[in-house]
Amino acid sequence: MNDIIKEIKELKEKRNAIIMAHYYTDAEVQDIADYLGDSLYLAQRAKETDADVIVFAGVEFMAETAKILNPNKTVLLPDQNAGCSLADDVDIPEFLKWRKEHQDYVLVSYINCSTEVKAVSDIICTSSNAKRIVESIPEDKRILFGTDKNLGAYLQKVLKREMVIWDGSCEVHREYNYDATRALKNKFPNAFFVAHPECPSPLLELADYVGSTTGIINAVETSTQKEIVVLTEKGVIHQLNKIAPDKEFISVPNNANVCNICPHMKLNTLEKIRDVLVENKNEIVLDETLRQKALLPLEKMLSLS
Ligand code: 13P
Ligand code: SF4
Repeated sequence: MNDIIKEIKELKEKRNAIIMAHYYTDAEVQDIADYLGDSLYLAQRAKETDADVIVFAGVEFMAETAKILNPNKTVLLPDQNAGCSLADDVDIPEFLKWRKEHQDYVLVSYINCSTEVKAVSDIICTSSNAKRIVESIPEDKRILFGTDKNLGAYLQKVLKREMVIWDGSCEVHREYNYDATRALKNKFPNAFFVAHPECPSPLLELADYVGSTTGIINAVETSTQKEIVVLTEKGVIHQLNKIAPDKEFISVPNNANVCNICPHMKLNTLEKIRDVLVENKNEIVLDETLRQKALLPLEKMLSLS
């Protein structure tokens, strides 16, 4: 492993490249990242970087976001099959029709969506700024929310704001088993339950803290409890172990009774990161008109974050 890390380091210097990684990637990928974080943090860093090349060890919508913000930089995705159900399950003509049927609504789209969806949105949000973004919309405006019905339902509940919500969900978070979570509540009555807002609302009701991956890490760091039940992808536990080695982390099983992993995030490997840097393959290329349209709601989000 040391050889490949050395190779990647040399390639990064040669190409003036940086590696961005999400918390759901494997531990060895997280450990070589120049920037590691949640979707908002990675978008903010992508906007600021003066590197020539960004290798995005995440999923396609994240790499596309980096490209929307950096049209003149090369953005490489280690594996082209690293998608996301929230982005890929959206039928674009259906979505455009839905948008047209609600023309006078403000369309808030979760960053987990394609560039096509971003391009017809008024503002983007991530799980860490979603409350603030929705609160920024004047009370007299009606809201259309895509692409996650669970995040949408959560926002509707905590902000007491009616929204028309697109019917999409994350293939990982929607699968946590409710009965298993309840059983963990009984088994660990003093545990701290943390959850990502992509979980369905019955699960969120069992959580003591709901927030983005970074929010979860920060909440665990300041918590006093020793046992932490984690309702999000288990890649996050790599960072949790680093910041709180004395705590015990318990992953909730999914409906198939296995530990939940995001199959897309796990496609990122050190070998693929090296290979895209050597071969300059899997470059993100966007239609320029679409990119410019998608940039506006993204910039709006960043200015409010
Ligand atoms: P975060 O922005 O909270 O890291 O979430 C990204 C994601 O894809 C969660 O499934
Ligand atoms: Fe998409 Fe879900 Fe994977 Fe996050 S965990 S990247 S929302 S499929």
